[in-house]
Amino acid sequence: MRINVAQQLKAPIGTARDYDADETVTIAGNDSRVQGEAKLVRTDRGILVKGTLHTEVEVVCSRCLSPFRCPLELNIEEEYFPVIDVVSGASLPLPEEPGSFTIDEHHVLDLTEAIRQYALLAIPMKPLCRPGCAGLCPNCGHNLNQGPCGCSSQGIDPRWSKLKNLTLANND
Ligand SMILES: [Zn+2]
Ligand SMILES: [Zn+2]
Repeated sequence: MRINVAQQLKAPIGTARDYDADETVTIAGNDSRVQGEAKLVRTDRGILVKGTLHTEVEVVCSRCLSPFRCPLELNIEEEYFPVIDVVSGASLPLPEEPGSFTIDEHHVLDLTEAIRQYALLAIPMKPLCRPGCAGLCPNCGHNLNQGPCGCSSQGIDPRWSKLKNLTLANND
C-alpha cells in the first residue's frame, strides 16, 4: 500500500489529504483485502496517518477448531518520517523512537507494514467463529454447531461410560 507523498511533504504543516485504501496485504501468511479510508496530515516532522481500515483474516475457532474468516477493524494512527529532505535531497536524521515508520528516498509512504502489525494485534487471542459457538463434544469430538451428536442423550449413565472405555481400548 504505497502512497507518494512528495507534494504533501512540500506543503505547509497541517495540509491534509484523504486516501481511499483497497488493496491486498499478506497478513499471517494469507492474502487479505484491506479497505477503508485514511487521512494523511503534514506534521512538522513528517506525515501523520490516521484512519480506520477493515480486513478479514482466516483463523481457527478456539472452541470448535473450524477455520473461519475473522473480520478486523484497524484503527491506525502512525507518524511517518522522511529519510531525505524533499527539497534539498539531504539525508534526515531518523527519530529516536525504535520501530518508527519511514518515508523512503522516493517519497513513498508504505502502509503495508503498519497494517500487518495492527492486524496481528487485532486478532483475538481466543477467536470464536460465532457468538456462543457450541464447540466440540468432549466425548466424540462432533462439532455441536452442526447439531447434537447423540452422546448427550445417553446422559451420565455409568454403564455407558464403561462401554465407551472398552470401545476406545479396542481402537488402540
Ligand atoms: Zn466455533
Ligand atoms: Zn458426542
